[in-house]
Amino acid sequence: MAVKQFKTESKRILDLMIHSIYTHKEIFIRELVSNASDAIDKLYYKALNDGSTGLDRNDFYIQIDLDAENRTLTISDNGIGMTKEDLENNLGVIANSGSLKFKNENDKKDEIDIIGQFGVGFYSAFMVSDTVTVESKAFGSDEAYRWTSSGADGYEVEACEKETHGTSITLYLKESSEDENYDEFLQAYRISSLIKKYSDYIRYPIKMEMQKSRLKEGTGTEEKEAEYESYTEVETLNSMVPIWKKSKSEVSEEDYNNFYKEKFMDWQNPLHVIRTSTEGAATYEALLFIPEKPAMDYYSKEFEKGLQLYASGVMIMEKCADLLPDHFSFVKGLVDSQDLSLNISREMLQHDRQLKIIAGRIEKKIASDLKSMLQNDREKYDKFFESFGLQLKFGMYDQYGMHKDELKDLVLFYSSTEKKLVTLAEYVSRMKEDQQYIYYGAGESYEKVLQLPQADAVSEKGYEILCLKDNIDEFALKMLRTYEEKEFKNISSADLDLQSDEEKEQAEKLAQDNEGLFNFMRDSLQDKVKAVRLSKRLKKHPVCISTDGEITTEMEKVLNAMPTGEKIKAERVLEINAAHPVFEALQALYEKDDEKLKLYTEILYNEALLIEGLPIEDAVDFASKICSLM
Ligand code: ADP
Ligand code: MG
Repeated sequence: MAVKQFKTESKRILDLMIHSIYTHKEIFIRELVSNASDAIDKLYYKALNDGSTGLDRNDFYIQIDLDAENRTLTISDNGIGMTKEDLENNLGVIANSGSLKFKNENDKKDEIDIIGQFGVGFYSAFMVSDTVTVESKAFGSDEAYRWTSSGADGYEVEACEKETHGTSITLYLKESSEDENYDEFLQAYRISSLIKKYSDYIRYPIKMEMQKSRLKEGTGTEEKEAEYESYTEVETLNSMVPIWKKSKSEVSEEDYNNFYKEKFMDWQNPLHVIRTSTEGAATYEALLFIPEKPAMDYYSKEFEKGLQLYASGVMIMEKCADLLPDHFSFVKGLVDSQDLSLNISREMLQHDRQLKIIAGRIEKKIASDLKSMLQNDREKYDKFFESFGLQLKFGMYDQYGMHKDELKDLVLFYSSTEKKLVTLAEYVSRMKEDQQYIYYGAGESYEKVLQLPQADAVSEKGYEILCLKDNIDEFALKMLRTYEEKEFKNISSADLDLQSDEEKEQAEKLAQDNEGLFNFMRDSLQDKVKAVRLSKRLKKHPVCISTDGEITTEMEKVLNAMPTGEKIKAERVLEINAAHPVFEALQALYEKDDEKLKLYTEILYNEALLIEGLPIEDAVDFASKICSLM
């Protein structure tokens, strides 16, 4: 029989499994039991759909057998089983998300920790075994096969005898050494406590023969001293009642955390747990989790949102997307409803009225939990927002702002005066008496926004500025239009109305006097700017770029970075600070040296672009122009 090699990635994982020292070797049992339970789920679900398999829910179980003499531990299930091809495909390569995720994160994290804390799948068997055999008979097939592997050398598959459908995995445990104890996995008591710890919620009985002791009949009476005899009895080790069916007082925080980590492949505890149930128009129980950190793929196209959907305790869908709105797509968890029929199809579910009602309720519940977290535990909310704030801001913009009202009080922005993230309500509560607008500036970072020349005039008035740094921010605010009837105003927009009447009058006159100069400058910049104007906002800097109209320069950057987006240009205005010495120089040149004025204009324009973080058109030309002045 030919020995086949594992695929490369599998080999690497195996190497890690075998050669590192693990603190949590015991998790192999959780992995194998979960696989057995999955296999039963698959067959049970099939039975429901076909109605033909003649199986009863009560027929299913998982069994653990210990054989101390031969140093084997066997985990058997009567689930769906595997064909010869399944054995090769499923156990010869890493097909599973758990192991793949482990591999991805492994570069970054201390590997011991990771293996200790989340799913690593079938391969974990090799942490404790020299050799593993998997005997399996696929449901409905007459043939059974045995898969054998002693680790990195590869694996073999051969035909074997097996009476019933399902899978039986036998681990030939390693010999204990001074540092490592493998014998513990041959002790029934130890195994039973591991099952309680990790697999208590498995919905099928996990049975094992337990040694027990009892009073010998006829002893322990007045006449006869007590004598004991030992006997064996098959026991069900797990309580099976799903955690969400238990009363709240029975479930500890740690129970929720363990459940979450096991079920949703996270190695961190959830940030927040929501448990809710309703009766009436729709009867359901929901157990929801907000993760502490986004999953690796959360902000990618590959990510699929959804909650697990159970009908009366039986899982009918792994990821029901319809149960979660996009803006709360980070929520994980499950919904169990007795109103849903077991063999409802995906298509039918989409039109299911009950499901819509449940989804609506869940959305409200998540929103209200977040709101109270924001009010009562700001530190936790800040953590949440760091992970998922982006998604909420997308949500405000998405679908033409359909959900903006639900989300506007949940989003935070960085405040120039508070130096931390604040809500819009907090901003408005601090607005100055004469302040009309909610001011914001956009840039790559908070520092860059505050360094913008345009920020000076606003800050000088004592007004707070919201600093936006995520691409979506400005779009989200534009979608909102106003908050508590206050309009939003970009500090770079041309009509930033900050001057007193007197100042305005003076400025008007100055502008008229220098109309020729400004027109000359505009013309020399050709179509790069719409106008050159006297600035009403600059304090220290000589020039800046502002924009007329709806599209600001930040939005221009974002829109133009989109692969399919049309090229869009904001209407730029070059603003000149009349109080800056450069202005006098310009005025002087206007009288006598057109060429030099052109040169200055060009340089100032480029300078303004640089400050704004916009690309200058010809850097070499810019550099040589500056040199020509020196
Ligand atoms: P995961 O469970 O995350 O998919 P594993 O590494 O634990 O990954 O298992 C790999 C695959 O092997 C499973 O997806 C399943 O197809 C198959 N498998 C493992 N154990 C069993 C079993 N007891 N019965 C049937 N199939 C199994
Ligand atoms: Mg698994």
